[in-house]
Amino acid sequence: MTTTTTTTNGVSPSEDDLKDALKTLRSEHPTLGISKIHAALLADHPEWTVSEKRTRKILQSEGLVISSGTGPTSASGKNGFKYPSSKLMEGLDLGQWTKKVEVKFFDKKKGKGLVAKERISEGETIWKEDPFILAPEWDIYDLQIKSGSCMHCSTSLAGSSLVKRCADSLSSGSTLCPAHFCNHLCRERSNKTHPLLCPSQNPASTPLLSFAQQKEWMALHALAQCTARVLLAAQGDGKDFAKDWEVVKSLAQLGMEERHAQVSAAEPDRATWKKAFQLYEQAFREPTQASEKKKLARLLRKPIPQEVVDELFNYDAFLRNLGRMSLNLEAHGGLYVLHSHINHACSPNTSIRHFDTRTALSRITVVAKKDIEVNEELVITYVNPDPRRMDRQRQLDEWGFGQCRCARCEQEKKDEAKLLTNGERHTSAVAAAEPVGDDLEKELKASFGVF
Ligand SMILES: [Zn+2]
Ligand SMILES: [Zn+2]
Ligand SMILES: [Zn+2]
Repeated sequence: MTTTTTTTNGVSPSEDDLKDALKTLRSEHPTLGISKIHAALLADHPEWTVSEKRTRKILQSEGLVISSGTGPTSASGKNGFKYPSSKLMEGLDLGQWTKKVEVKFFDKKKGKGLVAKERISEGETIWKEDPFILAPEWDIYDLQIKSGSCMHCSTSLAGSSLVKRCADSLSSGSTLCPAHFCNHLCRERSNKTHPLLCPSQNPASTPLLSFAQQKEWMALHALAQCTARVLLAAQGDGKDFAKDWEVVKSLAQLGMEERHAQVSAAEPDRATWKKAFQLYEQAFREPTQASEKKKLARLLRKPIPQEVVDELFNYDAFLRNLGRMSLNLEAHGGLYVLHSHINHACSPNTSIRHFDTRTALSRITVVAKKDIEVNEELVITYVNPDPRRMDRQRQLDEWGFGQCRCARCEQEKKDEAKLLTNGERHTSAVAAAEPVGDDLEKELKASFGVF
């Protein structure tokens, strides 16, 4: 500690000591704000004299800040690739789902992830989770709007005797709403989103939803669901709003413009984005007809918080938010708060299942595919893991992800380099890149909805 300076009040730690201490604190308290981290630092090191300003500066320079604003959209990597940036969710209570994992902040480039807090055995259920919002696959959405499956949880309603209709479609003089629900509970829970997406309560939302359906644009549908949830939460007492808003703001993001630069054919074109934004504003902000305006005003009596207006109803923010949806949606179209923290790797140790098909189709079960040791990161695969590295990377590119740096890819990259320097070993290296694991194909089919 040669660089420390003694002051009259205590010791001013060196930059490196302070950085180390703050990194440790951040990994122990991934969701604390700057002032609380600062307080924890002083509690851990009572002999130190450090100003909050200095703590803030280091947290910022080390990428350890939980941002509550817009922040940079992504961090640039090598070769001009952009990596999704993610923020820690302040005050996230993992205990509601599981005690087996915790959130860890790795570094600026990698962002956050989940690690095991205790040893988890192969086949074990790690947690079950219901979606924050659901924008289901289009064949299921078709069923929903034909009253064949629950508008809230998407479970089939065939043969159920407890089915409830949208309460508003019973009032006279309104457009008939097709929404049906498993039971009164699903109907009640749908109040967090449905009123703003209901053709009877907010007819201005219909063109937006139809457009998303016609384009089979899941991210747009998901953004409509998220927007409905945030705007309705802002009508309440503030507590639900703060929580919901934190979830949306903390989702990993990559702007649509950046995605567009990387992703050639996977996204609709710019004119389509503009049209989508226009319908989005009409649905939630400025309906074109007076009668629709009146209905929307009945649902949104309190003014929308300025922060929300800035983050949702601005074209750039809209594109960024679409990117957030694409990055964080589960394969079936649900956005799950804890699940959205799991990073990708080409040799996953965790898989996502939809086991509760008869009771809650949208509920996911996170299952260990392998034994997972304490502090080991939980990873899932976003792509078909069977083909060789270049093909996996191509799939990842289509999702807008950067270069995969998982252990398997790193190993295969080394093997490929060897192959280049030693031509005759070609055959053995190709063999090493052959499919791994017999259940992976099944796994993938399940995760993409081919049951
Ligand atoms: Zn239901
Ligand atoms: Zn309705
Ligand atoms: Zn990989």
